[in-house]
Amino acid sequence: MKKTIINLFGSMAQLFFPKLCVGCRGVLQPYEKTLCLKCELGLPLCYFTPHKTNIMHQRLSAHIPVEYTTALFLFYPKGIIEQLIHQLKYNGQRAIGVLFGDWMADQLSDSFFEKCTAVIPMPLHQKRQRKRGYNQVEGFAKQIADKLAIPVCNHVVWRKKNTRQLAQGKVQNRWEELADAFALNPNHNFTNQHWLLVDDVMTTGASLCACAKALLEIRGSKVSIVTIAYRV
Ligand SMILES: [Zn+2]
Repeated sequence: MKKTIINLFGSMAQLFFPKLCVGCRGVLQPYEKTLCLKCELGLPLCYFTPHKTNIMHQRLSAHIPVEYTTALFLFYPKGIIEQLIHQLKYNGQRAIGVLFGDWMADQLSDSFFEKCTAVIPMPLHQKRQRKRGYNQVEGFAKQIADKLAIPVCNHVVWRKKNTRQLAQGKVQNRWEELADAFALNPNHNFTNQHWLLVDDVMTTGASLCACAKALLEIRGSKVSIVTIAYRV
């Protein structure tokens, strides 16, 4: 009886306040979550995960010693992934991070990434995090950590420099600007970890490399990297 009443209220709420797809704003069907099936089927998956090396690995390993790398999607300017990441970052649509985190976590279990021992969400500068109210990669990172049964470590590395968004700065200056942007928390007590550094989009790779470099200063560290999307 109680279940019937809950279902009835659920159906009425969906009738008056329908849940909308974060991609196309169409009404979601009861079996759809966050994204409608049509939007979901149109997402540009990138299939990097089963391979020890891929284009992302080649680009990052030119700058830092990195173990494994993968991304869930290819990022095309003005494409659906750009739109969804914008929703996640600036419009409070945190469910997108959780949904993609679930999908990424499924790919990472039973893969090389099971060797990772702790997840690091790419830190935001505290001013930017305060303004946004949250770190957009935390939901994505948590789903991965839960599936791999390893902790999320938010306080090992921090962003000491509030760098500009990429669109505002020239790409060639990006590497110099980010080189000393991260610092280790002197009070952390982690050693011999295989860190899984997680971010939203890999564009130049400058911030991933700078953050990974800081983590690699910790004794016995290895770093693998996962992003929601890889910019083509
Ligand atoms: Zn849709």
